[in-house]
Amino acid sequence: MTAHQDDTSGVGEERIRKLNAAGMPALEKARDRDRGAGPFKRMVLRGATIIDGTGAPPWSPADIVVEDGRIVAIEKVGLPRKLAADARRPAAGDHEIDCRGKFVTPGFIDCHAHIGVPYHALSGPMAPADYVFKLWLAHGVTTVREMGSFNGLGWTLDQKARSQANEIAAPRILAYSYFPAVNDMLKIIHTPDQGREWLRALKARGADGVKFFGAPPAIMEAALDECRTLGLRSGCHHAQQAVTRMSTMTSARWGLTSQEHYYGLAESLFENRIIQDYTPDYDYGDEYFRFSFAGQTFRQAAQPGSAKWNDVMDEFLELGFTFVPTFSIYDANRDLMRTRRADWHRDYTYASLWNFYQPDGGGHGSYWHRWSTTNEVDWKQNYRLWMQFINEFKNRGGRVCTGSDSGFIFQTFGFGYIRELELLQEAGFTPLEVLRAATIQGAELLDIDDEVGSIEVGKAADLLIHDQNPLADFKLLYGTGAMRLNQENNKVEWPRALRYTIRNGVVYDVDELLADIREMVAESRAASPELPVP
Ligand SMILES: [Zn+2]
Repeated sequence: MTAHQDDTSGVGEERIRKLNAAGMPALEKARDRDRGAGPFKRMVLRGATIIDGTGAPPWSPADIVVEDGRIVAIEKVGLPRKLAADARRPAAGDHEIDCRGKFVTPGFIDCHAHIGVPYHALSGPMAPADYVFKLWLAHGVTTVREMGSFNGLGWTLDQKARSQANEIAAPRILAYSYFPAVNDMLKIIHTPDQGREWLRALKARGADGVKFFGAPPAIMEAALDECRTLGLRSGCHHAQQAVTRMSTMTSARWGLTSQEHYYGLAESLFENRIIQDYTPDYDYGDEYFRFSFAGQTFRQAAQPGSAKWNDVMDEFLELGFTFVPTFSIYDANRDLMRTRRADWHRDYTYASLWNFYQPDGGGHGSYWHRWSTTNEVDWKQNYRLWMQFINEFKNRGGRVCTGSDSGFIFQTFGFGYIRELELLQEAGFTPLEVLRAATIQGAELLDIDDEVGSIEVGKAADLLIHDQNPLADFKLLYGTGAMRLNQENNKVEWPRALRYTIRNGVVYDVDELLADIREMVAESRAASPELPVP
């Protein structure tokens, strides 16, 4: 073992050990931080319009004082368009940002993220962690919940600690480990006691939580009980291999914290079947079958407004359950061309990531060789019902958080996260409700709402400074910007909203981050010159 390798003998390393053995290494870790100014002894953001993340509407003008990476004062300094005299405002800092005409929001929380994916190694030289981290920071993501820690728990905890010490340019990281109890992925836990023991060892190593893909019910029930004892939070992707014995409602009753994606929700709503309708030739190991049939579940379930629909909704609300829908990761299923030809691929999608998306690789989510109009229509109908459930759950007081799951299915890191904001709005959330989901609600899910998620004195300075109000159009948050016509010269421009991402008091210039990413992508292309990118 060299100094650059992590010890992969322990708990939480099962998946990377298996991947390593199959020729898939962990990502190259982030290099020492080469961007960002600060943290400063005292930094003052002057004359800002604040949108605080709680759902409160914008207000101005405010001065925000940050000392050693923490918000120490928020002061109203006059009236809109009429700032108070300097003498009545907070004293000067050693760094100041003029925020007149700008909007300050909390940093975004991606509750379903993967710091790259070792699978991509089979499609060419893998993107380094810096590529992923900088894409996130450039799109305002200042916290990620690593759902599975597939690079290994030790690897993830190392990047978490280095990020927290501002040694690398990266978001705050919460490490959730893959619970190895499903046959088609990796199963080493075969009894409830083995599950409990594994979780105790995981907790001792410093993991923040657990990512389930399902498990035999007795193991799952014991594991969720042990999570409660240990104070580990949990999320579950209810894989089709496990969902028949355990829908989302079952695991929610046993104490699961959040459902990931949509798997298991439709099954919770089934009333005239127990098992989804499969054709005899179905094979879960074939990604085309997996994803085409996944687009049919909601129409086989109880319909909106039915007694069953309402009962299920009521019970999830009573349980205080959370949904992390990750709408964006399935966006290609309802409109392949849109996602495949997205504006950002040319400059921002790394060569091996692009290769991985293609159907010939046979990798996870690469099933386009048979995708049809019928498949897209199935998925459009599926989304309507799924979005209706999620929006109604929010309207009735339930917690819904933003997660991107990027790195698969034509969703590139950062861009996929902003797409998720757009899709929550499509589901019926107002822009302020979307922002609340992206900030304070994510912080509550991750149990870090005393630290981040809103703009309040005492919290860490994970803040975004926008040149334009992002609530006016989430497209302004894409690294490529949003198309606008400059009325003065009649030319099309692509303005962006996000100017600075402040993470832990360190101020990142988004232009610099985007330039770094374009350079990394260009280099990756030079190594794969035949790569056809639209
Ligand atoms: Zn995922």
